[in-house]
Amino acid sequence: MTQSVCILGATGSIGQSTLKILQQHPQEYSVFAVTAHSRIVELVEICKQYKPKIAVVPPHKVDELHQLFVQHQLADIEILSGEAGLIAVAEHAETDVVMAAIVGAAGLLPTLAAVKAGKRVLLANKEALVMSGDIMMQAALENNAALLPVDSEHNAIFQCLPQNYFSAERNGQPKLGVSQILLTASGGPFLHHTIERLQTVTPAQACKHPNWSMGQKISVDSATLMNKGLELIEACHLFSVKEHFVTVVVHPQSIIHSMVQYVDGSTLAQMGNPDMCTPIAHALAWPERIQTHVPALDLFQHSQLNFEEPDTVRFPALQLARQAMKTGGITPAVLNAANEIAVDAFLHGKIGFMQIPEIVERTLNRMENKAAASLEVIVQADQTARSIAQQLVMDKGS
Ligand code: NAD
Ligand code: MG
Repeated sequence: MTQSVCILGATGSIGQSTLKILQQHPQEYSVFAVTAHSRIVELVEICKQYKPKIAVVPPHKVDELHQLFVQHQLADIEILSGEAGLIAVAEHAETDVVMAAIVGAAGLLPTLAAVKAGKRVLLANKEALVMSGDIMMQAALENNAALLPVDSEHNAIFQCLPQNYFSAERNGQPKLGVSQILLTASGGPFLHHTIERLQTVTPAQACKHPNWSMGQKISVDSATLMNKGLELIEACHLFSVKEHFVTVVVHPQSIIHSMVQYVDGSTLAQMGNPDMCTPIAHALAWPERIQTHVPALDLFQHSQLNFEEPDTVRFPALQLARQAMKTGGITPAVLNAANEIAVDAFLHGKIGFMQIPEIVERTLNRMENKAAASLEVIVQADQTARSIAQQLVMDKGS
């Protein structure tokens, strides 16, 4: 039977890679709904090709999209808008699979709606899980939703874990002979820059990742190593382990996508060319496998694989995230919110690169931790952290 797919964030880097795979498998998958935030012309192109039943855009883009749909004979596609529209398609009765590929906290409520509706959720939007960790994992369990990691590292770990790992108890300890998770990091474009050089790097340099082509926000996160910090938190939730069971290993070639160590001395790695189509296809078809256009790994082309320890002095974001996970409660949501504001400010030339972790740290210091008892508490913490971080950005600029 054809699986009906809803792509939250269809115009983004992950959204586009997802569409590329669906195009290769028209018998197995159809596109039910697509969403976009700003690139409306691209959204229309997607709609022309994939003929979804519903498209979702922000309220102020509805008229523009409607006119374009009329122009292109696409007027039978229903248009929904805003957060309510995103939630409606995520939990829609006709949706089987949700690709959660909105960037940042904006993806939290739609992703959670998909989980609560018991969908197969392909999780790219790591910020949603970082913010709401326990609530999202509990909702997946209660509603029998398959929450499948698309982030390449977590997808690799998922592939290296024992098959019945997820049916075992969740108590913060690795189980079934697993002893440690090795989360690999490329180190980003500034891996060996001195602190002095890091102070003057530009947004364009930060967005030019050596191995992966990605959206702007995650590219900057990769350069500060905050991406690895968010991924560390993501791993703790997905695989139910405390933070000290996750070791970050810098591996500049991005050929090994992460590893799992076992008590008997085994280390299992998942390898492949760095292309997000592989983890997306894996999550889409799991437990089966489907074809992608990604070429098989040619090991003779990669005769050297290197590993090093991350430098948390030049890249303090990693340590801030590890500490936030240890602290728990609303702290990871605060870390994420402050980071989103700081990254945006850096991209707009308002602050320097090294001020990103500084603003995150100062925001964390200004907020009292409390239990992430409900979604409302988390959303409130996100809002408060954003205004504090915004104020810190303004103070820098003046
Ligand atoms: P992107 O910037 O290329 O795309 C983001 C998508 O989200 C776009 O479709 C955009 O329209 C939509 N969007 C942005 N702001 C929105 C808002 N306020 N409301 C609704 N929709 C909004 O980003 P990306 O690189 O595709 O990353 C998407 C997510 O996947 C991120 O959470 C990222 O961390 C994660 N991820 C990406 C990669 C990658 O290789 N690109 C790898 C692993 C994980
Ligand atoms: Mg990743």
